[in-house]
Amino acid sequence: MKNNNSTPPECTDYHVHCHYDGCSAKDMTLAAVYESAVTAGLREICVVKHYSHELPNGGDVWVNWKRTKPDDFEAYLEEFANTPQPAGLRVLSGVETELTTDKGDVNIPDAQAARVDLLLISNHWLPDAPGLSRAWQPLLGEGKLPHAMPLEQLGPWLEALAASGPEPYARAVFEGNANAVRRHPKARVLAHLGDGGLHALRAFRIPADDISDDRLLELAAPLFEACVTHNALWELTPEFPRRTNIVREANRCGVSFTATVDAHFLNNPRWGYTLAQHDVAEEALRKLGLRRGKL
Ligand SMILES: [Zn+2]
Ligand SMILES: [Zn+2]
Repeated sequence: MKNNNSTPPECTDYHVHCHYDGCSAKDMTLAAVYESAVTAGLREICVVKHYSHELPNGGDVWVNWKRTKPDDFEAYLEEFANTPQPAGLRVLSGVETELTTDKGDVNIPDAQAARVDLLLISNHWLPDAPGLSRAWQPLLGEGKLPHAMPLEQLGPWLEALAASGPEPYARAVFEGNANAVRRHPKARVLAHLGDGGLHALRAFRIPADDISDDRLLELAAPLFEACVTHNALWELTPEFPRRTNIVREANRCGVSFTATVDAHFLNNPRWGYTLAQHDVAEEALRKLGLRRGKL
C-alpha cells in the first residue's frame, strides 16, 4: 500500500462511506463520492463499506448495525472495480469492521478481507476476552447499548463491573487493537480512536474515567508500540477527544494520526459532516499538534 507520490497527509481521508450502507445517503455512488473528494481538495481516500460478519446478538440487526449481506459486498466490489478514478485522486477500497476479541480477531473473514486494500478497525462494541463478564449479553434483546438503558435494567451487569472495575475492559480494548494491527497486514487505520477506544467502554457504562491517567497510559503502551511498528494510523474525527493525554502520549511515542469526518452524506447531513467539510477534522488534529501520517 506504499505509494511513491508526495501527497501531503492533510489531503487524505481514509474513512468515506458510500450508498451500500443503510446509514449512508443514497446519492453516495462511488462516482459522486470521488467528485466530492476532488472538490474538497483530497488527493487520496478510502471508500468503505461496513462489514459485520456477526453481531453480538447472533441476529441480522443489532442497535445500529446490520449483518453484512454477501451480495451487497459483491456489488460494492464490482462498482469499485468499474468506477474510474479521477486524475489526481487515488482511491483505496476498504471496509469498516469491528474488533471482536482481545486476540485481535476482526469481524470479516480473511478471504473477504483479502479483496480490499484497507481494513478500518472500529471499537463498536466490547471485545471478548477471557475472564470478562458477559452479563451485558442478556441485555442485547433491548436493541440498545447500556448507556441508553435505565439503570434498573442493568443490575447484574453493574454488579459485575463493581466487582472487576474498568481496567480489564480497557486492557482488552488496547490489547485487542494492538493484536489486530500485528495480525492483519491490512489493518492500518484504527477508526475513531480519539480517546484510544474508551468510547466503547463508556457506551457499556464501564467507568473508564475512573482509571488514572498514569495507569491508562501503562495499559495503552502495547497499542502505541504496535501502531509504531506496523505503521497503523490513529484516526481522529472532529469530536475532540475526552482524554487528550492518551493521544498526546501516543504522539510522543511515535504514533501517526489521520483525520476524517466519517462522511455518510454528500449534502445536507442528517448528522456529522459532509466529505466537503473534511477540513473540520484536520482542524482538530492541528489544535492538538499531532503528527499526521499516511498509508
Ligand atoms: Zn464506526
Ligand atoms: Zn464509519
